[in-house]
Amino acid sequence: MKEIRMVDLHTQYLHIKADVDAAMQRVIDSTAFIKGKDVAQFQEELTSYMGAKHTIACGNGTDALQVAMMALELKPGDEVITTPFTFISTIEVIRLLGLKPLLVDVKEDTFNLDPSLLESAITKNTKAIVPVHLFGQCAHMEAILDIAKKHNLFVIEDNAQAIGANYLFPDGASQKAGTIGNIGTTSFFPSKNLGCFGDGGALFTNDDLLGEKLKALVNHGMKQRYYYDYVGVNSRLDTMQAAILRVKLKQLESYHQARQRAADYYDAALSGIEGLEVPVCSPFSTHVFHQYTIQVPAGSRDSLKVWLNEKGIPAMVYYPVPLHLQHAYDDIGYNTGDLPVAEKLSTRVLSLPMHTELEEEQLAYITDQIHAFFKS
Ligand SMILES: *Cc1c(COP(=O)(O)O)cnc(C)c1O
Repeated sequence: MKEIRMVDLHTQYLHIKADVDAAMQRVIDSTAFIKGKDVAQFQEELTSYMGAKHTIACGNGTDALQVAMMALELKPGDEVITTPFTFISTIEVIRLLGLKPLLVDVKEDTFNLDPSLLESAITKNTKAIVPVHLFGQCAHMEAILDIAKKHNLFVIEDNAQAIGANYLFPDGASQKAGTIGNIGTTSFFPSKNLGCFGDGGALFTNDDLLGEKLKALVNHGMKQRYYYDYVGVNSRLDTMQAAILRVKLKQLESYHQARQRAADYYDAALSGIEGLEVPVCSPFSTHVFHQYTIQVPAGSRDSLKVWLNEKGIPAMVYYPVPLHLQHAYDDIGYNTGDLPVAEKLSTRVLSLPMHTELEEEQLAYITDQIHAFFKS
């Protein structure tokens, strides 16, 4: 059996090697390493895949969040609501811009923001909500949009983990995650569902003025060369990365299918284990399984992880400490017990190997070992 990895980017590369190598060589031959043709072409292709009006490529998903908040002219002291159960980027950029993070607890079954808790968090200084579509499925956008509209708040979707997921509206319409709020952001970090060979990111918007502004902001705030309309940042997607992403975007739907097959296998093999909960899929979203995250009782989570690791099976805890309990953010004033669901989840979650190259033999071995743990 092939070695089991959390993410197997090497095998994935071998399947598209000829196209990727040719794309990279083309960029080298052009020497247009910054703002080369592939960047504009990738933006166009991604715009059409996402169904958004504007796609602005940038340096990484963290910058995308920062630039989104800059474009909306959030000012020091303004409050931004987000989730404590996610990667650090969101509150990092909130703090870097002198904004104040307001953390609202998540739903225990889907790990996403709990809209029923949003309204009581809003104050007169609150300006935006940043839902994160965690692990590959959407937060409950209609509920979030209703509250945002009522209180005149911006919505920035952090779509780093759910590119390609469809939000399903009750009337049957669907829209890609990341294209629903005022601005959506994503990351092309190598292990993301659409990953490049380094850092990369993008912003999405349906608003023409915001689209223009975002485009300028990621390039030093410049519209016309050497004339600056805004204080911006240097955050561009390299041409090389854009060329690689063009190859991988063509594969994205088949990548989703491969992840779905692995998730289906896990679901079938792991359902019915007493004390283990498989991921719950919301009725209002498809799931692109950036992670396949199970829940087990706090007392056995770490021992299950060790058990699997000893048998050559990687498994990871995303995330071991909720953001409100991270030391760097002590001064935002939260304590243990303030966000009980996120705190509980951080003791119970375990993400299993999930990628586009998982073979049935590997899945059988992983799930057999999980059964063996619960029998031991
Ligand atoms: C990966 C990730 C980011 C940051 O993306 P980078 O490209 O690594 O800066 C932001 N938010 C979430 C939810 C992520 O998973």
